Amino acid sequence: MRLILLGPPGAGKGTQAQRLVQKYGIVQLSTGDMLRAAVAAGTPIGLKAKDIMASGGLVSDDIVIGIIADRIEQDDARKGFILDGFPRTVPQAEALDRLLKEKGLKLDSVIELKVNEAVLLQRVENRISEMQARGEAVRADDNAEALAKRLDAYRAQTEPLVHYYGDKRALATVDGMASIDEVTAQISRILEVPGPKAKPTSRAKAKAAPKKVGIVAKAGKRVRASETSKRAKAKKAVKTKAKKAKVAKKSAVKASSLARRAKKTAKKGRKAPSKAGKRVVGRKAAASKRAAQKVAKKVTKRRAKGRNQLTKRR
Ligand code: AMP
Repeated sequence: MRLILLGPPGAGKGTQAQRLVQKYGIVQLSTGDMLRAAVAAGTPIGLKAKDIMASGGLVSDDIVIGIIADRIEQDDARKGFILDGFPRTVPQAEALDRLLKEKGLKLDSVIELKVNEAVLLQRVENRISEMQARGEAVRADDNAEALAKRLDAYRAQTEPLVHYYGDKRALATVDGMASIDEVTAQISRILEVPGPKAKPTSRAKAKAAPKKVGIVAKAGKRVRASETSKRAKAKKAVKTKAKKAKVAKKSAVKASSLARRAKKTAKKGRKAPSKAGKRVVGRKAAASKRAAQKVAKKVTKRRAKGRNQLTKRR
């Protein structure tokens, strides 16, 4: 299974990715985690990314595309992966498409966690205090200023991916404001349904008008988004029915004309009987001939008798 989790910072992508790792036994590929590791290790990539990340900006597409290209090559990603925080821009999404195509792989789903921005700030603040309570180091970008910049970057560069994947009918949206368990349940429901997941966007509708079957998950409900396809099916059914009726009518007309012709032939048959018919007619004729001879004999006998009586009387 290959998935993308899409959503602004603090939407819960990491939490849901962890649950999916447990459930499906696939790896979570978080570009944020990989970059933080690079920063911590002081690699050339880490050095380039460090300041950009701390300010809440986006690291260059080339760097993250390179990281992902290497990572999905590794053995543990063969079974599948959850991309968390990648792609974040349209060029990254296009690069991912190319990478997957080269490897003959396909995405199963892109799941967008939709959240209310006001709540995001609260969530990030909670995360900071939880980390501090556990004695963990707080992320360099977990502060109000960097968060505002990260949200801006999300709106400007990442949100267009909702349309990008919507147009490809690969996107499903879940209510990220629901409880963690409810969001997990919504995601599970989406993943259990095979096939296209997206509610076609108006752009997609304009592009590829008829063949639309989509599913959108919102507030725990799954909705078939293919009214167009349903209508098309109904139209087709009516057409087929009409065609069938036409064929039936045609064959009925043909049958009655055949019956008329058969009747005519039968009549003709009586005038010009077949061999068997001729035999029957012959037998009948012989019988009536014999009956006529019998009657004639009787008449002759009666006449002879009459004549004898006359002679006697004389
Ligand atoms: P995250 O942990 O996903 O919130 O990412 C933390 C930071 O890492 C982001 O604010 C960016 O500076 C950087 N980053 C992570 N993923 C990407 C990406 N796909 N493209 C660009 N920058 C990224």
